[in-house]
Amino acid sequence: MRLVVLGAAGRMGRTLVELIAATPGARLSGALDRPDSPAIGSDAGTLAGLAPLGVIVTSDVDAALDGADGIIDFTAPSASVAFAAIAAERRLVHVIGTTGLGPDDAAAIAEAATRARIVKSGNMSLGVNLLAGLVEKAARALGPDAFDIEILEMHHRHKVDAPSGTALLLGEAAANGRAIDLAEASVRVRDGQTGPRAEGTIGFATLRGGSVVGEHSVILAGEGERLVLSHIATDRAIFARGAVRAALWANGQAPGLYGMRDVLGLTD
Ligand code: NAP
Repeated sequence: MRLVVLGAAGRMGRTLVELIAATPGARLSGALDRPDSPAIGSDAGTLAGLAPLGVIVTSDVDAALDGADGIIDFTAPSASVAFAAIAAERRLVHVIGTTGLGPDDAAAIAEAATRARIVKSGNMSLGVNLLAGLVEKAARALGPDAFDIEILEMHHRHKVDAPSGTALLLGEAAANGRAIDLAEASVRVRDGQTGPRAEGTIGFATLRGGSVVGEHSVILAGEGERLVLSHIATDRAIFARGAVRAALWANGQAPGLYGMRDVLGLTD
């Protein structure tokens, strides 16, 4: 499968280039970044710390996508929305790891998925997607009258959106378990005279600092006991591995919008 990495000079982009080069059945056929990126003109392999791969980072979309089967995209919401439309036009696979997408972005991506094969997830790792299933079960079993749900996350100092896509994914899992709407139940910030905690809400807390790849805990707090379900990422290769696996999986699917739980067969 011929894959193009969007945002090839970014933290995830460089990890993806390395992973694609090491994955049988996948080949890097293009590398895109923004026109003003200092990486334009560099070999994508060299940028990723490998031997040169003969794929030069460019901002020329037509040249980069020529002959491609799929795009892997860990960039920014506006870029992911624009490339979903391009993927739809060219009937490509589009794997979207970008987080911080708003409701309008999500709607535009869903529309593109009527023609493109899109896999979108706030976290591409096996561990977190398994954790989401466990959180859903725990939230269903431990009702809002007895257990409060809080989600705590920490990421590196460069991250630009909060709460993380993974924290929201885990919040959705908890909300599904309780058959409620996350948008209505979530408390994303607390400050000042907040009053007591409202029953049934799902709280979020965000920490930022250093080089932390990603840490998430879902805390179910009851009277006299607390259940803590956690995931700790120590290497961003777990997300890249999941994204490449998603691209290879989606290549055999009909157009549609899929999640990592579909790719990993965790939908039951
Ligand atoms: P990063 O280091 O800032 O990389 C993003 C790259 O995309 C940069 O090279 C950026 O270029 C480039 N870019 C932005 N807009 C573009 C456009 N229109 N066309 C082409 N390239 C563009 O960030 P990161 O840490 O790799 O994270 C990227 C995204 O992935 C974030 O949303 C993050 O939350 C998410 N993420 C998701 C997962 C998951 O499993 N789903 C895991 C890790 C990270 P400039 O530097 O020039 O702006």
